[in-house]
Amino acid sequence: KESQAEKFQRQHMDPDTSTVTASYCNEMMKRRNMTVGQCKPVNTFIHEPLPDVQVICFQGNVTCKNGKPNCHQSSSKMRITDCRLKKGSKYPKCDYQTQQLQKSIIVACECVQYETVDFDGSV
Ligand code: ADP
Repeated sequence: KESQAEKFQRQHMDPDTSTVTASYCNEMMKRRNMTVGQCKPVNTFIHEPLPDVQVICFQGNVTCKNGKPNCHQSSSKMRITDCRLKKGSKYPKCDYQTQQLQKSIIVACECVQYETVDFDGSV
């Protein structure tokens, strides 16, 4: 079974893409299995090396959106792409808006190996 850390990497890590095209989200949301059964409404991809994302677990501690205490905010801005389902898009045709951004990100970490398990937002 896929671990929480593996799921985070599948849903959020794309270190090797630097420039994204308008069709990026439509292709990537499908390729990473986020359009199975339903279209995942919002998802962010991170274009930074995995170690640079993992060390966020040792950076500023913040409260998660769900009230849990295990979220951390990156001290530097990261290259990210936000994918947002377009209004009127109907499953199985998942049509996304692609937006490239440079923002500080917030992730949840679990302490077994101090791995990132949840993308909590960007600020
Ligand atoms: P996303 O990373 O986009 O939020 P999911 O909701 O599919 O994607 O996965 C988040 C996973 O992280 C869930 O399995 C959830 O149980 C887990 N998790 C662990 N700690 C937290 C936390 N503090 N906040 C949110 N999710 C958490």
